[in-house]
Amino acid sequence: MAKPLVALVGRPNVGKSTLFNRLVGEPLAIVDGVPGTTRDRLIAEAEWTGHPFLVVDTGGIDPRVGGERPLSVGSAEYIEQIRAQAEMAIEDADVVLFLVDASSGVTPADMEVANLLRRKQRIIEGKPHPPVLLVVNKADHESLRQQAAQFYELGLGEPHAISALHGLGIGDLLDEVVAHLPPAAEAEEEEAVKIAIVGRPNVGKSSLLNRLVGEERAIVSPIAGTTRDAIDTPIEYQGIPITLIDTAGIRRRGRIEPGVEKYSVLRTLRAIERCDVALLMLDATTGVTAQDAHIAGYILEANKSVVVLVNKWDAVPKDSQTMQEYTQRIRQELNFMDYVPILFISAKTGQRVDQVLPLALKVQEERLAHLPTAHLNRILQAAQDAHTPTSRTGKSLRIYYGTQVRTDPPTFLIYVNDPKLAHFTYLRYLENCIRREYPFTGTPIRLVLKPRR
Ligand code: GDP
Ligand code: GDP
Repeated sequence: MAKPLVALVGRPNVGKSTLFNRLVGEPLAIVDGVPGTTRDRLIAEAEWTGHPFLVVDTGGIDPRVGGERPLSVGSAEYIEQIRAQAEMAIEDADVVLFLVDASSGVTPADMEVANLLRRKQRIIEGKPHPPVLLVVNKADHESLRQQAAQFYELGLGEPHAISALHGLGIGDLLDEVVAHLPPAAEAEEEEAVKIAIVGRPNVGKSSLLNRLVGEERAIVSPIAGTTRDAIDTPIEYQGIPITLIDTAGIRRRGRIEPGVEKYSVLRTLRAIERCDVALLMLDATTGVTAQDAHIAGYILEANKSVVVLVNKWDAVPKDSQTMQEYTQRIRQELNFMDYVPILFISAKTGQRVDQVLPLALKVQEERLAHLPTAHLNRILQAAQDAHTPTSRTGKSLRIYYGTQVRTDPPTFLIYVNDPKLAHFTYLRYLENCIRREYPFTGTPIRLVLKPRR
């Protein structure tokens, strides 16, 4: 089962991402110094006193469907966005941390968000759900801690004064968070390959799930966002245990009116975070939308493997070029490299559906592949011989040796004279050289450069 989800909400600049980083630590610090590989995470795992949970920074999520334009600070849309983020959190999180800023006092935006949170809480077993903890950040010293009391005004109970920047009050806050988490879910079935079916509403996720499961388990409906209950579906494919994680199916009965386009970013994020391989479903009849691109971005950020499924292929008029054209456009619009496999399917007729699981399992197998160091170094040496790194400044990159330090996702540590000399395009080239021999189909690989001591 899923780990509980703790969501950070609040207006910009109150310190959400600072707190996020403090809660999740810096497991990815190893990639520092590699151009183009450090991305801001939106969701990551954290743990306190033996209780694992996921933390999501809603400030990084654009909840507007198809929203692409940057918003100007203070505009009506801007407030709207903060409200939408808070709404997302209250619908899908297990605990909400509402951050405010001790140094600026209660602002009208804080007031609005607080009202919304209180209004949207549901009463479960006599208690408001999900619990909202009011966090007064930037309480860096005693006089600021005193300011915290004024936030009682927000009507969200006791303010918890912390300083995310200086690490003050974090332990007490986490004790409180853990006390509000739902009782520990049963442990994940560790040996099962976790495959998530993700995509915007109506692309055909439930139809595919039905096909894969081979029974009418999920209710398929032409109305986007129909209430369905399925969450994890355990299946077996040629003796291999698989857990299908379905994001379409997880809606609380009766809470969503039929016909309302309701797509849950947080559920999608959580499914992606939990999976080994994401099946990103697109609708061939509508082409790639901004929402598809957002989901693709989340998969990349999470360093997960991906297979793109272009569904409803039965409904597309085709000639001999059509598949090629689609492939190119999809890669471009989703910012996916050649290593991402694309399958054209029809959940309706069953066309190529039998290739979905074998491909996903192949991707997972390669995700776990380990390159022998000697072989890697032959690849790196040949790459250097074929293309010497050049530099405008006269000093150029030298690669000494490399080794694969982990799988899942595959991560390569490469010792060089000076990491700063590595141009992004050269790293791309090295990646391609590795993939020519070990394709790592559907899987991002990471190259971490270190100066040789
Ligand atoms: P977000 O927009 O809510 O994610 O806010 P950020 O985490 O980006 O923080 C906004 C600014 O506030 C940054 O300059 C942080 O360094 C600063 N900040 C965050 N937490 C604290 C804190 O506890 N004390 C102080 N003094 N500054 C903080
Ligand atoms: P979900 O919201 O992503 O779970 O999508 P559904 O599985 O509920 O499908 C949405 C609609 O698309 C339904 O009317 C399905 O019958 C239809 N649909 C799903 N797969 C296909 C397909 O391969 N071809 C065609 N023509 N329609 C499909």
